[in-house]
Amino acid sequence: AAAKQLREAIGAGFQPILLDGVTGSGKTEVYFDAVAEALRRGKQVLVLLPEIALTEPFLSRFTRRFGCEPVAWHSDLRASQRRRAWRAIADGSAKVVVGARSSLFLPYTKLGLIVVDEAHEASFKQEEGVQYHARDVAVMRGHFEAFPIILASATPAIETKHMVEIGRYAEVTLTERHADAQMPEIRAVDLTQDPPLRQHWLAPSLIKEIDANMEAGEQSLLFLNRRGFAPLTLCRTCGHRFQCPNCTAWMVEHRLMHRLACHHCGHVMPPPAACPECGEEDTLVACGPGVERIADEVAELYPDARTAVVTSDTIWSPARAAEFVRAMEAGEIDIVIGTQLVTKGYHFPNLTLVGVIDADLGLQGGDLRAAERSFQQISQVAGRAGRGDKPGRVLVQTHDPTAPVIEALVSGDGPAFFEAETDARRAAAMPPFGRLAGIVVSAADQGDAERVAAAIGRAKPTIEGMAVYGPAPAPLAMLRGRHRQRLLVHAERKLDVQAVIREWLGALDWPAKVRVSVDVDPYSFV
Ligand SMILES: [Zn+2]
Ligand SMILES: [Zn+2]
Repeated sequence: AAAKQLREAIGAGFQPILLDGVTGSGKTEVYFDAVAEALRRGKQVLVLLPEIALTEPFLSRFTRRFGCEPVAWHSDLRASQRRRAWRAIADGSAKVVVGARSSLFLPYTKLGLIVVDEAHEASFKQEEGVQYHARDVAVMRGHFEAFPIILASATPAIETKHMVEIGRYAEVTLTERHADAQMPEIRAVDLTQDPPLRQHWLAPSLIKEIDANMEAGEQSLLFLNRRGFAPLTLCRTCGHRFQCPNCTAWMVEHRLMHRLACHHCGHVMPPPAACPECGEEDTLVACGPGVERIADEVAELYPDARTAVVTSDTIWSPARAAEFVRAMEAGEIDIVIGTQLVTKGYHFPNLTLVGVIDADLGLQGGDLRAAERSFQQISQVAGRAGRGDKPGRVLVQTHDPTAPVIEALVSGDGPAFFEAETDARRAAAMPPFGRLAGIVVSAADQGDAERVAAAIGRAKPTIEGMAVYGPAPAPLAMLRGRHRQRLLVHAERKLDVQAVIREWLGALDWPAKVRVSVDVDPYSFV
């Protein structure tokens, strides 16, 4: 019935449709039907995926279903491949394009459907340069060219759910898991009651489950969204912490590559033998875990286990991703340790255990969407467990099992969680019920940034229903060697914040060495 509903939308004009289905419910097969219908009508189809690494498994799946390869579009293409793809899209001979965000702007001649797979993915929102949210651009394109947009997700964004509620988006829901696969059982591990050994990160109850999987010859996945070995290195003698010289960020130790790296600007340095502050040797200690450190702990516990670390450091190309998928399917890997790169898309029937190392990690920081994003991410990774005929188990390690996010995950009551989140946003007039914009002023010289930010603050317009906070140092007070000041604008839903800011900043001047960027909440682009 769901597939029929989507098929009928093809050729019937503009309509955004949320395809809402739990992981493993066969969303892809369902929207493939809509793709087939669009092709039958001689239209071009664009399928947007959040990760380049996902493209390879997706392409083979597509090819199995349609008997021909779609055109892939991503940053990894060689210039000749790029030119060929561009021409095929422009002359209409490319029927289906599978690509990353930038494929939205290709010169299609007869586009008739856009599918945004895993529509909530934050990676769809470009953080640098032009600010746009792929989901919203896709919807806009469908609006102007009068065709449907399918937003496929297991855990839709609150903004998207809200659009369904007010009747602007249609919704198609898939509730059952595909075939006979069961939803995995999710259990919280209270780290205050069941703590790991000192300088270790796997709780005894999680280790017991991994034991059972090793015994049964089934695969396990340990999820920690942190690359490298340790997020912080400090000197035991004087307490010196290694900070990036260009950013307000710690240098992350990457032991496999023998270096410390900044994840914001890419600055790298070899791990020094002596502390630069007190000069003592061999005093540096790693604090906290990254995936590499979890891999070490696994190697210590299971010296014979075959393991794979999956992060953007190890899976940097579609070919590497394909090799990982092949090894998993062939049963050549017992335990996977990975970042968010492993949370989506993959389908491994023999993977029956997922351990979330630190469920509290995503809740830190003042991000408005922290709880929502945590829920989405952990649901996604939990969805990797038990996709075949064997049931899956998910253990979620946390220091606060009573946190609403954790309780919702364990009880499986996502809708109640989203309702509570939505109510909280409504009460605080936060997006999508209000508007939020950030004005970031950056300069190589701190004084320049502060002066321009202060001038912008002084010139703020007085408008009913709009408040301006700041300027204050941005959460990342320094990034790539530039000092950053931020003003936050909070306004009522009905206010055209973009127009107000345009007029406000348009009346001001600042030196060319100072950069001012505006990030309006993506919701307002719709
Ligand atoms: Zn020291
Ligand atoms: Zn840096």
